[in-house]
Amino acid sequence: MAEPATDLALLRDRLGVIADLEQAQALLGWDQHTYMPAGGVEARGRQSATLAGLRHEHLVDDRLFDLLGRLEGSGLTGDDAALVREVRREVDRARRVPADLVTRLALQAALGQAVWAQARAADDFAAFAPELRATLALQRERAAALGDGDPYDVLHDLYERGSSAERVAQVFAPLRIEIAALLDAVRGSDRAPDLDVLARPVPEAAQEAFATEMVRAFGFDFARGRLDRTVHPFAQRIGPGDVRITTRYRSDRFAMALFGTLHESGHGMYEQNLPAAEARTPLGDSVSLGVHESQSRLWENLVGRGRPFWTWAYARLRAHAPGVFDDVDAERFVFAINAVRPTLIRVEADELTYHLHVMLRFELEQRLIAGSLDVADLPGAWAEESAALGLPTPPDDRQGCLQDVHWSAGMFGYFPTYTLGTLLSVQLWDALGRAVPDRDAHLAAGDFAPVFDWLVANVHDHGSRFAPDELVERATGAPLSADAYVRYARAKYGALYGFA
Ligand code: ZN
Repeated sequence: MAEPATDLALLRDRLGVIADLEQAQALLGWDQHTYMPAGGVEARGRQSATLAGLRHEHLVDDRLFDLLGRLEGSGLTGDDAALVREVRREVDRARRVPADLVTRLALQAALGQAVWAQARAADDFAAFAPELRATLALQRERAAALGDGDPYDVLHDLYERGSSAERVAQVFAPLRIEIAALLDAVRGSDRAPDLDVLARPVPEAAQEAFATEMVRAFGFDFARGRLDRTVHPFAQRIGPGDVRITTRYRSDRFAMALFGTLHESGHGMYEQNLPAAEARTPLGDSVSLGVHESQSRLWENLVGRGRPFWTWAYARLRAHAPGVFDDVDAERFVFAINAVRPTLIRVEADELTYHLHVMLRFELEQRLIAGSLDVADLPGAWAEESAALGLPTPPDDRQGCLQDVHWSAGMFGYFPTYTLGTLLSVQLWDALGRAVPDRDAHLAAGDFAPVFDWLVANVHDHGSRFAPDELVERATGAPLSADAYVRYARAKYGALYGFA
């Protein structure tokens, strides 16, 4: 019988190969979305598919399967046991989905996105409907292959392990009531933010210089990372010492680039500070999309839209954009960047009504997967549910059910992670405030080390050692709920709009 120590070394060798293939694929993806010329599309598609196929072969290899079986019977504890548990999860998932289904999923995702992009541009839902039908059928097939639970739950678990539609609904219910009440209070307020401030032109070079200075001050390490331009911003780890974040600039919308960059820096700092010793195993990976989003939202909203931060940062912004904000005091500026105004488009939503967009999609995608909502009825259901939530009714499908890429790419059960992560960001912020009572004084002085250090110690450094629920309990002392967020939103918008 083989020794566990030897088997562990063999396991780490096999995982290292899989990690290298993933990281090479990540670099190809980053390049595709930043600098690749249009002519590279076809070859890049083949290269990515080849690497994905190789990774899959390694993951379903019988020798890895046997190795796992031996290790599971060898009484491992601590991180070794956690490693085997994480690998088992990935291996089982990979082995359950037949190779031909993997191929069909990849092809449909590529086709679905291409047809969606054209349909959105032409505001032609009918052109997209057949692809959405085909995508739904494949996702149901995928859910059935993966497990025997409710199909929506099985798919949602791919993005947020341990979560379920029931749990999401429980967390969302009180939040929905609270947002409706806050929206009423905002509408009834006699205070209004000066949104013109946000439309003032700021040269792109000045935006880039300011955003770079801010994320460097937060703790994003440019010796182990980069900031580049793209169309749809994202963060991507290539390796433990190489994390790429991206953003986009428009001179008349400086807040979009700024908060987008702060957001991606939160994702990037999480990736930069995962346990380096586990960089070639699943233990060194981020633990869930919700936890990932908690990091981006914390830096974007709790730090970046907060009054203490701007006590320090506003003079820096004015220095980068001379003259632009001379007549705007910090209070007026902070009110403008925190304005509440329901929008048609999710990615343009404010911090509060963003959740309504998530709730809308959560509701509709459950019905689409269950088959209780026919694809042909989606635009009507979208309008109906938007009105029920207090969102504007879209004048066309381009600004309605065709606005997001997710469903065209086969991502069902993904949207809730945006709100779960935001709720977690506030719960973490509260715990951080208890651990660092003078947190806001540090922020007001441009000192982000106490926030950064706490996040590294309580979230980043754990990698995937603990399941998300356990990580949340350990870091905050309570299971995830909307409570902290509700308290935060009442206090924040009450103070801004004067209804506290
Ligand atoms: Zn994000």
